[in-house]
Amino acid sequence: PTKREHDRRSDAMDIAELRNASRFEYLQKRTDRKVTEMHDEIIDHEYLFQDVKLTDAEQRDHRRNKEIYELVKDRAKKHDDAGDYYRMPDAYDTAANVDQEKRFAVATRRYDDPDDAPRDGKKRSNFSEQEAWEEQQIRKSRLQFGSNGGGRAGDGYELVFDTAVDFVKSVVQTGDGEMDELAEAIDTKVALHRELQDERKNLPVYQLKDDLLKAIEEYQVLIIVGETGSGKTTQIPQYLHEAGYTAKGKKIACTQPRRVAAMSVAARVAQEMGVKLGHEVGYSIRFEDCTSEKTVIKYMTDGMLLREFLGEPDLASYSVVIVDEAHERTLSTDILFGLVKDIVRFRPDVKLLISSATLNAEKFSDFFDEAPIFKIPGRRYKVDILYTKAPEANYIKAAVGTILQLHLTEPAGDILLFLTGQEEIETVEETLKEAMRGLASKMPELVICPIYANLPTELQAKIFEPAPEGARKVVLATNIAETSLTIDGIKYVIDPGFCKMKSYNPRTGMESLLRAPISKASADQRAGRSGRTGPGKCYRLFTEFNFRNDLDDDTVPEIQRSNLANVVLRLKALGINDLVNFDFMDPPASESLLKALEELFALGALNRRGELTKTGRRMAEFPLDPMLSKAIVASEKYRCSEEVVTIAAMLSAGNAVFYRPKDKQVHADTAKQAFHVGDVGDHVALLNVYNAWKESGYSPQWCRENFVQSRTMKRARDVRDQLEALLERVEIEPCSGAGDLTAIRKAFTAGYFRNAARRQKDGSYRAVKSHQMVFVHPSSGMAQVLPPWVVYHELVETTKEYMRQVTELKPEWLVEIAPHYYQHKD
Ligand code: ADP
Ligand code: MG
Repeated sequence: PTKREHDRRSDAMDIAELRNASRFEYLQKRTDRKVTEMHDEIIDHEYLFQDVKLTDAEQRDHRRNKEIYELVKDRAKKHDDAGDYYRMPDAYDTAANVDQEKRFAVATRRYDDPDDAPRDGKKRSNFSEQEAWEEQQIRKSRLQFGSNGGGRAGDGYELVFDTAVDFVKSVVQTGDGEMDELAEAIDTKVALHRELQDERKNLPVYQLKDDLLKAIEEYQVLIIVGETGSGKTTQIPQYLHEAGYTAKGKKIACTQPRRVAAMSVAARVAQEMGVKLGHEVGYSIRFEDCTSEKTVIKYMTDGMLLREFLGEPDLASYSVVIVDEAHERTLSTDILFGLVKDIVRFRPDVKLLISSATLNAEKFSDFFDEAPIFKIPGRRYKVDILYTKAPEANYIKAAVGTILQLHLTEPAGDILLFLTGQEEIETVEETLKEAMRGLASKMPELVICPIYANLPTELQAKIFEPAPEGARKVVLATNIAETSLTIDGIKYVIDPGFCKMKSYNPRTGMESLLRAPISKASADQRAGRSGRTGPGKCYRLFTEFNFRNDLDDDTVPEIQRSNLANVVLRLKALGINDLVNFDFMDPPASESLLKALEELFALGALNRRGELTKTGRRMAEFPLDPMLSKAIVASEKYRCSEEVVTIAAMLSAGNAVFYRPKDKQVHADTAKQAFHVGDVGDHVALLNVYNAWKESGYSPQWCRENFVQSRTMKRARDVRDQLEALLERVEIEPCSGAGDLTAIRKAFTAGYFRNAARRQKDGSYRAVKSHQMVFVHPSSGMAQVLPPWVVYHELVETTKEYMRQVTELKPEWLVEIAPHYYQHKD
């Protein structure tokens, strides 16, 4: 990881993690940290002050430090000997670490005379080490004294040395209880680990461990079916690791359709194995790679594995590929099916596991050449299903009402409510909190835990924590809790019967996210979540008649309701040209395939023969939608790649950039408007926000003053770094258009020309190609301006079709930039 990334991670741990950690974790982390700190001190002491005469007090402190160090080592060994598990914190067991410290120290001593200290990199080859050491010391002394550390090499050198001596002195003032506390914390850590191991043995899959391993040994491809929560995702990779599938430097890949699931499961498995997340166990999701050289079990989104094919078409670094949650049939999973099926044919050493929560596994077996099906018998208690008598007009209201009613009348047990997205979850959370305030004294506590894709990582773990004694937990979740994540202790499920679903109209080429009714299969999965640990109840907020007559049996695979441009581009980049004959489990409509080819042709990614062009090859390198990738590639021509990459990062950062506190809406709106200099559009405004933030030194204070979400900005910065690296990879020179807003807008138009719209007399817009009626989203800075022509980033459907992120456009650009597409312009 880069230094910044590292800092960010440890910052996150400092504040959020420690605050949210359970007592167990807290103690565990404190031990680790304490020990690492002590260890550092001893090392510093021994190597740095070898030639320095220590006072008696300093020598005593040093001995004390060593005592603690020995105590921890001793404890660890005792636990080890007893067959218990204890892992030394990292600083201990990496000899390399010690060596490095040693080298820093040696480098230091050589320059005892400050005049001799290096001032530039050319003088001494080990300058960078020296520099690193200084950095480290300055940081330490800052931490300790809050000073600014002073200068760098040369005169700063002495100062740093002095503060380091002080640092040692002050840290070693340990009270006597500390040793006991330390010892206790180690014991706690071991106890926690033992507890976790017992839990693992209680999972249904544990009974079948040996049979499963035998089956995997015997067959190259295996379909694994088991009820959600039986341990497929968390246990099977560990079994394979223990059985030696990770020997010889090979890894196990396990794909998940959702980022949150990949992160959360990886965190759990790391904990079970007693390793740090990102070491032996890691995860990889778009724009975030939490793995290292050490990683042997890698959870990743299905989309990320798909990307890995670009760099490693035979997936040679993996000994096992697990396509998990196969029943979800996401677009990426479906494409993976075709690719991995091909790989097993020419890599006899690789194992392929397809794991699914539904019993309908024959289809997978058929597709994978009659691969055997391994069933893990689930535990499912009886679940009572209750329907509403009449259809509910407003399921949000109905859901809140049901929660409160349940909370007041039903015996202990947690509640799980399925909603379609973040906004709904936040609404329900607010409403519930308000209702609870009104009733506070009459009701036992209700602990509200939201979970959705953009929820900050450090809050995601909260849903797994049991509610305090006497309180009831209510989890507000998106579809993610349907099969990807299992939350123990749920006894009541409330199911409004909706989810957000991608839908695609191949005629207009429009893709949008819609709220749609779920399938019968989904409804059954959801109900099942309440019967995992005992009998449960599922409250469906729709009628039984609805269920029987209106719901489809199964969800249509995503591939049949998506814009395929992205997938087609990926496949072409992998050298798969013949898409019609690609091995799809359920082929997409040929109309959709054609539309995708057309779109890529219009973007210049394919030539007339359907072959990838240089532009297309470059576009495929970016983990973005083809339109956005094209805007980036086009920024070379318009000489504004710096700006376009910034905007692309802001568009991809996920969450909202601005926020609008209820009591300060006017302030917030004014602050936001200030970024709209010249009123040319939201894209440029995003650029202005980023640059102003950058100028402030990436200051969180600045964010607060401007009503900008600091978290979104940090993420945008990470994304930007990665996009910039990709620019280099596709050999696009970073260059700045120095405020040429036309150039920037033209680059975007080069990607988004299909999303052009023209203002009508009544202030609505008409999409130029599809003739669909659309509106500027009220949150857009253009909502007051309403320019005659606009280009938009995306459509969202709420009460109307809204354009989000809107920028002014000159109609003549369309013909200039996309002549193929707009040759018959009206
Ligand atoms: P499956 O993949 O078969 O649905 P999992 O392996 O995901 O089952 O879950 C096994 C158990 O691990 C469940 O009891 C679940 O609650 C627990 N678990 C999974 N992830 C976490 C987590 N992040 N924190 C706590 N418990 C977890
Ligand atoms: Mg699972």
